[in-house]
Amino acid sequence: MSRWTETRRHPSYQAKNTIHNPRLVKPSKPVVAEYFTVQDNTHMHQFHTLPFDNTYVRLPDVFFERVTPTPFPHPHVVSINPAVAELLDLTPDAMQYPTFAEYCCGAKPLPGSDPLAMLYAGHQFGHYVPQLGDGRAILLGEVRNQKGEKWDLHLKGAGLTRFSRDGDGRAVLRSTIREYLCGEALHGLGIPTTRGLCIISGEEVVYRERPEPGAMLIRLAPSHVRFGTFEVFFYRQQYEHLTVLADYVIQHHYPHLLEEQNRYVRFLHEVAAWTGHLIAQWQAVGWAHGVLNTDNMSILGLTLDYGPFGFMESFNPGFICNHSDHQGRYSYQNQPDIGYWNIRALAHALSPLVEPDAVKAAPEIYEQAMLTRYAELMRAKLGLEEAHAHDDRLVTDLLNLMQTNQVDYTTFFRSLSRFSQEFPPDNTGIRDQFVTREVFDDWTVRYQERLKAEKSRDEIRKSRMNQTNPHYILRNHLVQQAIVQATAHRDYSEIDRLLTLLKQPYTEQPGMEAYANPAPSGSPPIIVSCSS
Ligand code: AMP
Ligand code: MG
Repeated sequence: MSRWTETRRHPSYQAKNTIHNPRLVKPSKPVVAEYFTVQDNTHMHQFHTLPFDNTYVRLPDVFFERVTPTPFPHPHVVSINPAVAELLDLTPDAMQYPTFAEYCCGAKPLPGSDPLAMLYAGHQFGHYVPQLGDGRAILLGEVRNQKGEKWDLHLKGAGLTRFSRDGDGRAVLRSTIREYLCGEALHGLGIPTTRGLCIISGEEVVYRERPEPGAMLIRLAPSHVRFGTFEVFFYRQQYEHLTVLADYVIQHHYPHLLEEQNRYVRFLHEVAAWTGHLIAQWQAVGWAHGVLNTDNMSILGLTLDYGPFGFMESFNPGFICNHSDHQGRYSYQNQPDIGYWNIRALAHALSPLVEPDAVKAAPEIYEQAMLTRYAELMRAKLGLEEAHAHDDRLVTDLLNLMQTNQVDYTTFFRSLSRFSQEFPPDNTGIRDQFVTREVFDDWTVRYQERLKAEKSRDEIRKSRMNQTNPHYILRNHLVQQAIVQATAHRDYSEIDRLLTLLKQPYTEQPGMEAYANPAPSGSPPIIVSCSS
């Protein structure tokens, strides 16, 4: 599987200039002349002049409901993410004009966009729910950038749709900030994810456990198709739509399979492998999604639908970040098994298109990819370059020790880069994180032997480890601080500060030392549950 990884690009990676896009031809006359800014002889767009190319809306009507966003009064910009704006060829300047927020939240129609709510179903907490769909998010449309990349613009919190069930179609500012920042945090760590473009708030109160300011988030992904999008057509026995959907996803996101005779099998198995890679990456950084229902599983193997997620602080395999998950179905340690379960559900949904053997093989392919990748990542976290027998024992024994000693996962691995093989060694800063220091000393003897076995040199290993073990993660108390300032005082500066910080999680940034620390001891737990 690792050989396969080296030769294949992730499906969310979009090859440059591979897609012919007639809309990229420069218009002879700018549509709205005053909104173009000329830079290097190229016409630069503003947000509302983006060139839309709506491929999903050309699928059969049953795939979606056409819907327009419901704006809220007096919208204003909370934050704009310049890195994501760039994916749309937008400069931050091209988003800072008085009516920008109105275009974002649907108060003004976006020319060329054909907004819709996508239909899907899914297994939620193990039970099939026949009709879900975008109940509070709207696909504004798809934009092709100058490189020919297709980006879905998804507006979350945009009001009621046919799929809203008992919900109000809204999102609270708190949850949009969490999604916005965590998307960038995972992206900064190199983990595939949807990305937040901007947050807009307005004069509307949304009722959850208590009244809260409402907000909308525009997020980008090459596609928002989920495992549950396939499930809905399988369980309705609409196999012709299942085929259309598989063809659509292959055409746009797995184009190297187009000419393959058994392309549906290859497609299923590639999704299985990418999902394995994704979950291995979450495990390695100590992150839990919190609601791994099949409707939250991306067909591109990227992190999707941030809800009650969390980064672990002290290592605890039973870590449950979702307050509503009483059984711990989606605990940190269960994620690899849940990935297996979800791939089985996807394979079952694709069974009309692939032979039974291929259906059976999919979860095994997932598992192999996940285990191989996890082993590689953990080896890298220890600074090891070669694969030796019993490396897994070295990792497991360390994790057990960290658990019993309640050692902060991120801090420890970052500090391990300073491990010295000199004699006498000075590893006090590392060993002091453990209560039972002697037991940790026993482990370090094995670690040192292992380093010696591959002739590891401290300085080189240190710089390698510091590119693998982050200094900063989005700890819950950090995002909470940004939320409190934003909701209580309309002070959005902390959001932008974290956005900048998390872009470079491996680089120690001057003045930001406190942001690397675990939550102050005794701080109250931050309760997060589904669908806020
Ligand atoms: P989630 O747990 O956020 O992934 O949502 C699960 C399903 O419930 C999806 O179909 C959502 O679109 C829908 N949903 C969640 N929250 C709301 C809400 N406030 N209003 C309408 N639909 C919602
Ligand atoms: Mg969801």
